[in-house]
Amino acid sequence: MTGFATRAARAGINRDPAHRAVTAPIHLSSAYARATPELAPDFDYARTAHPGRALFEEAVADLEGGIGAIATASGMAAIDLLLNDLRHGARIVAPVDAYGGTRRLLDARAAGGRFDARYVRCWEKGEVAAALEGGAELLLLETPSNPLLRITDIQAAARLGKAAGALVAVDNTLLSPALQRPLALGADCVIHSATKLINGHSDMVGGALVETDAGRLDRHRWWANAAGTGLAGFDAFLALRGLRTLPVRARTQSASALQIAEWLAARPEVAAVHYPGLKDHPGHAMAARQQSGFGVILSLELTPDRDARGFAKALKLFTLAQSLGGVESLVSLPALMTHAAMTSEARADAGISDRLIRLSAGLEDTADLIADLEAALTASATT
Ligand SMILES: *Cc1c(COP(=O)(O)O)cnc(C)c1O
Repeated sequence: MTGFATRAARAGINRDPAHRAVTAPIHLSSAYARATPELAPDFDYARTAHPGRALFEEAVADLEGGIGAIATASGMAAIDLLLNDLRHGARIVAPVDAYGGTRRLLDARAAGGRFDARYVRCWEKGEVAAALEGGAELLLLETPSNPLLRITDIQAAARLGKAAGALVAVDNTLLSPALQRPLALGADCVIHSATKLINGHSDMVGGALVETDAGRLDRHRWWANAAGTGLAGFDAFLALRGLRTLPVRARTQSASALQIAEWLAARPEVAAVHYPGLKDHPGHAMAARQQSGFGVILSLELTPDRDARGFAKALKLFTLAQSLGGVESLVSLPALMTHAAMTSEARADAGISDRLIRLSAGLEDTADLIADLEAALTASATT
């Protein structure tokens, strides 16, 4: 098999049977003509499948090492696909600090009686084991977690999950297959928000569910068609175009994030920096073992004499916006933005303070990003 970067760069290239276009065309047709009424063509109706979606699915499955993937209209739609297939009342074990939207969806479904959702600190093996006692149907992991970058040992957690009869799914959005491949570590499924690193250009919303089992792939595909949650034609084109440069972006942006984290950690205005690339991060050794890069996200807290909002607003090269993993650097205040859907108790459980600041390092020159951070630190003084 050729290398990772080769497979990413060649994804969907030379695959146009009609005109031999080098880059796969954008297919927007909702319907595909049949030669005879009873003979179903490869593509029939675009809710079910279309050529651009199929190429993107093939590329993501290949890079993650799965047997197939289902591309969805968003990352949340990929998570929902996974939930559709579970029995009524099924126990789900999920991270206490899961992505805010994931927590909102699980909480709402659990409140309606659909699931028995249990939230645990997944980086503590004992808590995962206790929550799985008596059996569970789904163990959902997110590592590194967002926004505190806690690291879960995927191999150990997957072993516990499987022993309890649970399907083990990993949300790999924060790292992408360029920096972590959970299926090789024993996970059954991988979830992506393709909106983030995979596309990387912040110009579409989409997701993917990568599978290792043919029967489950068929059932999830059935649900995607039945509920109509598949990825649209133009978005599939953008996602595939972005994916071709994923290895270079992930590596460069990770290197920049590490330099920024090290610089921030040495500053007197900064009380804490959360980044797995730092040697004193509690998950550093595990991250070094199971990841091939430390990622593009870091979070920090300023000293009490500094104002987090003032800092975020003073930044010029980090845009104040939700999302992460794009070529442009972003800053967010999770308690007010990405994690605002959680109750304040749930945020306190997850350790997300109102003062926490999250950064997503883009492709700008690291020296410019650091100069911008330095100016904003100065501007953040409250006295
Ligand atoms: C953004 C995100 C999601 C949801 O993806 P959407 O494309 O916004 O629906 C899920 N998990 C993680 C870790 C995310 O960052």
